[in-house]
Amino acid sequence: MATSPTDTSSDAANTGGIEVSFEFFPPKTEKMEETLWNSIKKLAPLKPRFVSVTYGAGGSTRERTHATVKRIVDETVLNPAAHLTCVEATREEIDAVIRDYWDAGVRHIVALRGDPPSGIGEKYVPFEGGYANAAELAAGISRIAAFEISVGCYPEKHPESPSFDADLDLLKAKIDGGASRAISQFFVEPDSFLRYVDRARSAGIDIPIVPGIMPVGNVAGYMRMASATGTHVPDWFKDRFEGLDEDPHTRQLVALAVAAEQVQRLADQGIRQFHIYTLNRAETAFALCHILGVRPDKPLAA
Ligand code: FAD
Repeated sequence: MATSPTDTSSDAANTGGIEVSFEFFPPKTEKMEETLWNSIKKLAPLKPRFVSVTYGAGGSTRERTHATVKRIVDETVLNPAAHLTCVEATREEIDAVIRDYWDAGVRHIVALRGDPPSGIGEKYVPFEGGYANAAELAAGISRIAAFEISVGCYPEKHPESPSFDADLDLLKAKIDGGASRAISQFFVEPDSFLRYVDRARSAGIDIPIVPGIMPVGNVAGYMRMASATGTHVPDWFKDRFEGLDEDPHTRQLVALAVAAEQVQRLADQGIRQFHIYTLNRAETAFALCHILGVRPDKPLAA
């Protein structure tokens, strides 16, 4: 397969060389649990490389994350990846969570620093006796067992980072700690992701860098998140959703169209791995996979 400077296909294995993974969050209520499991059942036949489960700020979802990951291990053939952060916990506490995961059969962790408990945008202060950042956490995980480790990366640089170079240095430290994949923060413009991959390759980073694709659910929530994470939202994007506040059906169709443009542009540029933030809903993720050529072996009944 031809490679381009932005190619991330080194371990692609799915239909047409495209490989997908899905992110879920741990459900809070029985109803949400049902929605999540219906989504997992619908998406499982697409044979994702892995499915990840987020970890709430300050470890607030520790038990729920663990329970969701454990149920994926017990009841599916999927490979779960548990998100883990450094927030408000000592190394010993975090190491115990890591060992629990290993004992439960989990072999993949998404190692993150986490956001300040006081809120995104506030100053992050490492917990006393804890891991200071994702690079230290990755190294800690590697010391405990041979986990596959993914980490976060930032196409528009992390808002706390003084420069792209500083950001890439930290990504290198995460790789030194054992990370073998970087999953990106969401972005609107595919070119910002492509530029970032080029920068990373020029800096000698050669692990897969996987775009995090976040379809728009709630526009106001998306905008708030973009503002907190320093994600640029161009005017054309705002225009697409204008006037749709009271029309969720059309909004969902437009959201799919926008995300489809993003993945098509990236696939055209040689990107072969995609991480889809599902928001626990299968429809849009399933449609994006279909567009990318990632389909079940047998067509599913409607
Ligand atoms: P790091 O890369 O460790 O650090 C982030 C920034 O902090 C750096 O860019 C740098 O500016 C600064 N910094 C860190 N160490 C140093 C140092 N030694 N000296 C100077 N500056 C330093 N959050 C959750 O709470 N739960 C989740 O499940 C979750 N999942 C995520 C999944 C993905 C794919 C991504 C991209 C993010 C996710 N987040 C999650 C959000 C993440 O926790 C935040 O973006 C957080 O602010 C940074 O985490 P990180 O692991 O990238 O941090």
